[in-house]
This record gives sequence, structure tokens and C-alpha cells, in this order.
Amino acid sequence: MAKAKAKVPELATRIGFGWDSHAFKSGIPLLIGGVKLDYDKGLGGHSDGDVLLHAITDALLGGIAGPDIGTLFPPSDPQWKGADSVVFLQEALRRVASAGYAVTNLDSTLILNAPKIGPHAAEIRSRVAALLGIPEDCVGLKAKPPEGLNTATAAVAHVVVLLQKKEEKS
Ligand SMILES: [Zn+2]
Repeated sequence: MAKAKAKVPELATRIGFGWDSHAFKSGIPLLIGGVKLDYDKGLGGHSDGDVLLHAITDALLGGIAGPDIGTLFPPSDPQWKGADSVVFLQEALRRVASAGYAVTNLDSTLILNAPKIGPHAAEIRSRVAALLGIPEDCVGLKAKPPEGLNTATAAVAHVVVLLQKKEEKS
């Protein structure tokens, strides 16, 4: 007998958590949160290496207990090589909406040695807010160097999102 498709329980709020890391590589553009930063290295890996958008995508998918980014967009699949990570984020948003939820707010921490994120934080927050369709003051972004961690050649992103059940249309 075919198993019924699992339905996301209709909780009023759900939390999602995402984590990602990529190694710095010379000669490729650096994209963080959909913003291209001026730096001599970018983040390698499949797609465009946007560590923040990947962590946000996984946080959104995790919030609805969905499949993770690597399952939906396998790195082994050549069609995602160099792909714009906005495509991944939009698929996660589509799944969140179809589960009946809307994004309330997001908080994130980037861990990287360079470049300095501070001068670009406003632009990244604004871009992420626009992609998610939420106000800028609902997007938190913090950055810190990897003190005591041997990860100077990588960028790491941690993200939590809060999802809220949408009002039923009556
Ligand atoms: Zn990634």
C-alpha cells in the first residue's frame, strides 16, 4: 500500500537551523548572501559557493523538516556547477510557503578570517531581507574571526530562522 505523503504538523511557529562551510579558492568571485564582495579569493565547492545562502536554505528546509540542500541539489549533479544559490533559496521558500508557513525573522553568524564583513553588512542584510521578503530589521548578521579554530582558509555560516503559520483564508 502506498504510504500517504507526510504532512508538516501545523505548529504556530517552527524553528529552522542551517550550517555550511566552504574553502577559499583563488581566482573566483566571493559571494556572501547574494552580494559580490571585492576580494582576491572566492568560496569553492559546487554552485557559486555562497555559504550564507546555503545555510539559510538549509535552515528554511530544516524548519519544515524537509530534505536538505545536498539532497535537493546534489553536488555531483553537473547542472548545479556554478549555479546561482538564489535558485536554491527560492526552492526552499517555495516549500516553506506550500507547507503553510512564512518567514518571521532570521539570525546568522559568519566565521571567517577575511574579508571584513562589517563594511558590507548593511548591503548583505538588505539583499537577504529582499530575497526572503521580510524587513531588514528582521535579518541579523554577525561576523567573527575563527579564533582558536584552525579554519583560516574557510568560511562558515550558522543560521536560524523562525517560521510562522500563515493565517487560514476564510
Ligand atoms: Zn554550501
